[in-house]
Amino acid sequence: MSSTFRRFITEHDVALAASRVGLMQVNITRLCNQACAHCHVAAGPNRREMMARETIERCLEVLGEHPEITTLDITGGAPELHPDFRELVSRARELDRHVMVRHNLTVTLERHPVTRASLAYLPAFFAEQGVEIVSSLPHYQPYLTDRQRGSGAFERSIASMRLLNEVGYGRPGSGLELNLVHNPVGPYLPADQCSLERDYHASLERSHGVVFNRLFALTNMPVARFAEHLEALGQAEEYRDRLSAACNPAAAANVMCRNMISVGYDGTLYDCDFNQMLDLAIEPEEPATIFTFDIDRLSERDIRFGDHCFGCTAGSGSSCGGATT
Ligand code: SF4
Ligand code: SF4
Repeated sequence: MSSTFRRFITEHDVALAASRVGLMQVNITRLCNQACAHCHVAAGPNRREMMARETIERCLEVLGEHPEITTLDITGGAPELHPDFRELVSRARELDRHVMVRHNLTVTLERHPVTRASLAYLPAFFAEQGVEIVSSLPHYQPYLTDRQRGSGAFERSIASMRLLNEVGYGRPGSGLELNLVHNPVGPYLPADQCSLERDYHASLERSHGVVFNRLFALTNMPVARFAEHLEALGQAEEYRDRLSAACNPAAAANVMCRNMISVGYDGTLYDCDFNQMLDLAIEPEEPATIFTFDIDRLSERDIRFGDHCFGCTAGSGSSCGGATT
């Protein structure tokens, strides 16, 4: 793909290929109890896409065959709304894999939008399985979080964090990690991750009595719902220019796609969740689905970079684990 981004990384001699597959991210559903303004998946209560049982089985089989894939990162939508979520987590843990769940906090307090089943079991289940929880809380100021996630989202997120804290999450020495994700409430780059983390810790503990481990500061990716939001405000071009002007070669060298593979709900393989939303499957000559998974070829594949990749490389960089530099 010819793009300004590709020219930039070529000029700065940044690697264009993957270096390994150490993490498998599986997007198992687009169904979500929320419909956030910044959602790059355009998830919501009316989405019905679910990973089929045989695809989940194949993901577990691939994990079992490849101990070098040390982490399973489960995302959605709200992955807890998939009927096989619990089984996927527990079987990955039986394989001794580190399991991360992209958990939106509020889902614990709600009923399943389709089956109406309670999800109150989640905090105890997460603790029993020892999963790492990564939860978006766009800001420690309630009105800023509500602006992005909907009215009342901040208070419900705090109530859910209390339940996680009660079972040990975020507590020193528990080994149960609760990491939060900040993303700017608008077309800006995130502020410095360390300063934000200090402010989050101080504000959330002092005002709400809740604790967490680390904060990941992410740049909003101009794809799907956030791209539509920017278009509607007439800010899309300005935001893209801002990201490309801030491109940082050191961040480009550390982009997360070089160490991972992303699996769509239908089993198609992508370099990352963002490419998944843009329908940019891995390069055509590579194995295309989880059913034809070939770790040697995937570990050396060329990445399908495009201009949206400036979202990962602007400023301090942005990945599933926050800043990259
Ligand atoms: S950002 Fe997360 S919580 Fe919000 S709609 Fe998207 S998947 Fe759901
Ligand atoms: S958007 Fe995806 S492909 Fe592009 S740099 Fe980020 S992780 Fe890599």
